[in-house]
Amino acid sequence: MKPWLKKALVCLGVVLLAGCLAFVLLPPKGTIPILNYHFVVLEERSGHTSLEVSTKQFEKQMWFLRTFGYRPLSIDEFYEIKRGAQPPRGREVVVTFDDGNQTYVEHALPILKRFEIPSVNFLVWESSEHRLHGGMNLNTVRSLAGEPMVSFGSHTLNHATLTEADLARVRDEIIQNKEYLEDFFRRPIRYFAYPSGAFDEEIPRLVEEAGHDLAFTTSWKHVPEGQRQTSVTITRVKISPRDTLVTFWFKLSGLIQLRHELKVLLR
Ligand SMILES: [Zn+2]
Repeated sequence: MKPWLKKALVCLGVVLLAGCLAFVLLPPKGTIPILNYHFVVLEERSGHTSLEVSTKQFEKQMWFLRTFGYRPLSIDEFYEIKRGAQPPRGREVVVTFDDGNQTYVEHALPILKRFEIPSVNFLVWESSEHRLHGGMNLNTVRSLAGEPMVSFGSHTLNHATLTEADLARVRDEIIQNKEYLEDFFRRPIRYFAYPSGAFDEEIPRLVEEAGHDLAFTTSWKHVPEGQRQTSVTITRVKISPRDTLVTFWFKLSGLIQLRHELKVLLR
């Protein structure tokens, strides 16, 4: 065998071995990826925006989670781990949706139910029209709230970018949406997601004071450089229509989070 071919085969073997090890060992226990979706649309309608994942793609991803031993958690189960009441067992994952829209009910939920995967959807209550943003049917949503696999959280009153609003408005956006949703569902709303992921130093404190146990941003880019995430600045990974199963795995692997934590350590 020619020496260059031998070297190439050795390199290939090392890369394959490293890939297999990463696939089995990542994410490390305690690193829980939080997946962020918006719309799940029919194949022919997908790809118009970066927020639209096709039913086929979503189905493959949920299949992937179930086939490769991931443990999809409800948001309440995630909270129990986050506050230290339950230890992580490894390979946990949380599936979240923003904006509350009809595609969640029509396309995402049937797939989630088939694979027995819990999810949480962060809702915007349009108080002036007394309805949910995204045209979700109120009766459907109310009945879904009684299902153990479905949870709802708050996403402000007008989907306002909170960093662009004054403090009084920020308070209203956070508190009023929570109150409207609690009044509608007749149960506490304990989880929150920042519209567009945006927050500053003050906003997470207001979210916590309003009675939310957890709050989610969109990506690491919203967490100030060198800062750890807290229970009210939890990062998520956005799943886009361009994701293949390989990039889906990369987002699940926790490597993005590890890279950030390494940066914090090295500061
Ligand atoms: Zn949103």
